[in-house]
Amino acid sequence: AEEVGGDDKEVVREYFNNNGFQRWKKIYGDTDDVNRVQRDIRLGHSKTVENALQMLKDEGSLQGVTICDAGCGTGSLSIPLAKEGAIVCASDISAAMVAEAEKLAKEQLVSSENGVSPAMPKFVVSDLESLDGLYDTVVCLDVMIHYPQSKADGMIAHLASLAEKRLILSFAPKTFYYDALKRVGELFPGPSKATRAYLHSEADVERALRKVGWTIKKKGLIATQFYFAKLIEAVPM
Ligand code: SAM
Repeated sequence: AEEVGGDDKEVVREYFNNNGFQRWKKIYGDTDDVNRVQRDIRLGHSKTVENALQMLKDEGSLQGVTICDAGCGTGSLSIPLAKEGAIVCASDISAAMVAEAEKLAKEQLVSSENGVSPAMPKFVVSDLESLDGLYDTVVCLDVMIHYPQSKADGMIAHLASLAEKRLILSFAPKTFYYDALKRVGELFPGPSKATRAYLHSEADVERALRKVGWTIKKKGLIATQFYFAKLIEAVPM
């Protein structure tokens, strides 16, 4: 795929504050006004969230664990993480997404049976390059699709620098079949074609991680008819 200059990010920001916000809010929601493709993507994405949560919980309780959810969208992962007792910083380049995530968190993070309510995530409007601080874990789901490989290396290095113990990433895998689907436009039907989609190979992601001293510990593949994601957990070498 051809790569464009520095305005890529502005296009993404503008998209996820407008058309993209409307489209993805619907896909990530639970209303019936979705078409067949959107329903399939909703299912695939929910599996990615579920698998990421499982990966996180496999290493023990999340109570008090600090987690940075970079590119949090509508909070599909941040909210369940808060329910598990994690101390979450949820950020996104889109102010509309962050506002929606915060609204949903306020609705859903009500006190549990024992009367203790989970800590609200901290919501921040920020592109992930501008994030700083140090977290036990950094998670970044389905965001790399907006990064050409030339920028993905820097993005991965930055996310790793924010994480002490682990980094969980998902990306659209570069395979012949997926490339073909993307080419025929199936993955980005309608107005969402306004943004480019970049696929990544696991080898490229692994190389970017190794450059900064990280290695892949676990991986999984989530695939439905129209949604494909590689999910990886990386740790310092
Ligand atoms: N991670 C969420 C999830 O899995 O539910 C949202 C995924 S959505 C496909 C991609 C999100 O990444 C959008 O909310 C978009 O605004 C955000 N995004 C794209 N580029 C970004 C960047 N450079 N920094 C921070 N967020 C970004």
